[in-house]
Amino acid sequence: MESEQQKSYCNQCGTQVQPYEGQVFITCPFCDSSIYIDENQVVFHYYVSPALDADGANAALFRWMSDSHSVKDLDQQARRLSTEFLFLPIWYFRVKMAGNGETILLKPARAISVTELMNLKISASDLLPYHRDLGLEAALPSVPLEAALGWLTEKKIVGVPLETFLVHIPIFIIKYNYQDRIYSAVVEAGTGKVFANFYPMKSEGAYLRIAGLVALIYLGLALIPVLAALFGNNATGIAILISAVLAGLAFVPLFLLAKRTAGKP
Ligand SMILES: [Zn+2]
Repeated sequence: MESEQQKSYCNQCGTQVQPYEGQVFITCPFCDSSIYIDENQVVFHYYVSPALDADGANAALFRWMSDSHSVKDLDQQARRLSTEFLFLPIWYFRVKMAGNGETILLKPARAISVTELMNLKISASDLLPYHRDLGLEAALPSVPLEAALGWLTEKKIVGVPLETFLVHIPIFIIKYNYQDRIYSAVVEAGTGKVFANFYPMKSEGAYLRIAGLVALIYLGLALIPVLAALFGNNATGIAILISAVLAGLAFVPLFLLAKRTAGKP
């Protein structure tokens, strides 16, 4: 490794910037641009302003919980454990896609368990120049730009990115407890959108049990005329009738059971 620090230049005006050791977030002394000094590149540095406070974020999460994609009454039964705010650094790439025009791709510049967050849509108009007052809550990037660019090559992009930014996005990480398990969700504080990789979903097991029960009952009913024919007591016609009537009767309770399992209509 080189002992002497590499020279860095503002990518807006070209002025040489002289960060003190370990400093990576810089305001250019000449043109006032907010820049980030990565190991091998200087990029513009932005942030997204939070529109929600902690109460707003918790409310957004509980509204999301009351939606039908999670278990019934999750919003009633979940117990919130903690709400933590931070500005999460992400790499923001504007790229050309093969045949598809341009798109924005995001890659966390720091490990985060809720990877769903990268489906976030950030509009260029939401990007504000980073300023040092955000410093305390702005996490330092730990994923170098080079690693993020390596990830980009797996996508169908053409050439180098048209723009590369470091963006700090405001998030609340909310941990909650449901039936003795701990879950994490992220509320993006710019939009109030909720992201979660894992959350208590309606149990698949319950659906499978009902499907199995229905299959068994109808198989049994279908066997009645078959058995009648095997015993050869000329009752096949009556057996088919009994089977059909029972099948009809079974339909309603089975349907109601399935509907109850599904929770909300
Ligand atoms: Zn400058």
